Amino acid sequence: MVVYLTLSCIAIAGASVAGGLAPLATVLTHTRLQLYLSFAAGTMLGAVFFHMLPEAVESGGPAILQWVSFGLLSLFFLERFFSFHHHEAPDESSTPACGHEHSEHHHGHATNISTHSALNWGAAAIGLAIHTFVGGFALASAVALDQGSPAEHGTSIGVLLATLVHKPADALTIVSLMVRAGVSRTSAHLVNLAFSLLLPLGVVGFFVSRALIGGDAGTRFTSAALAFSAGTFLCIALSDLLPELHFHEHDRWKLSVSLLAGFGLMAGTAYIG
Ligand SMILES: [Zn+2]
Ligand SMILES: [Zn+2]
Repeated sequence: MVVYLTLSCIAIAGASVAGGLAPLATVLTHTRLQLYLSFAAGTMLGAVFFHMLPEAVESGGPAILQWVSFGLLSLFFLERFFSFHHHEAPDESSTPACGHEHSEHHHGHATNISTHSALNWGAAAIGLAIHTFVGGFALASAVALDQGSPAEHGTSIGVLLATLVHKPADALTIVSLMVRAGVSRTSAHLVNLAFSLLLPLGVVGFFVSRALIGGDAGTRFTSAALAFSAGTFLCIALSDLLPELHFHEHDRWKLSVSLLAGFGLMAGTAYIG
């Protein structure tokens, strides 16, 4: 279990660093970013319904589902007050016309983000720190429940894959915000690396909490943690997907295929795992 978790955390840190490097590469266009975000949202949505919720309900009973709502609302309010989950291509704010049709509204938002980014990357960093720490809880609770049920080991693989696919988006956000606010690229990458280390801290936090609670309450805590994490995954997936309906009317077929590919990946691993 320890080896699996350690390797997972190293892989996730690697994905974060790679995501942070993306804004420096010129390959990242607006459409490519949206295609990636659709895919990542699809994997998170799939992880929730094919991996996390079935396992949480199986171990904690139907009443555990209320924790899904707490997770969803927690992340919603975190995003409302700390705005850590904006994803834009690095040059989007400086070039309002990105080559395809967007509503005025979309660019209204984008401009607001860029003017506030100098002040707000600190707030975004707090939000992202909590989001990453909770990601550690998600992985650890999934691994703990997989250990408890020898017949099934798929949940932790689903959570790990979804986290790996999603993490570069977070790294991209924080590095872009910091660079735009005038922070040097080296510092931005170091901060990004520090963020990826918060995930193992979340893993440790989970196991310490569970050990302190102990016994049957500890088992229930594990189920509740996985259900709560499922709620946070749901919130992230929807916050990336729903704006596509109103603000990104271009490439609708490509974006749909990308979403279903991510979703299908999770559905597939649920039946293999
Ligand atoms: Zn995120
Ligand atoms: Zn667009």
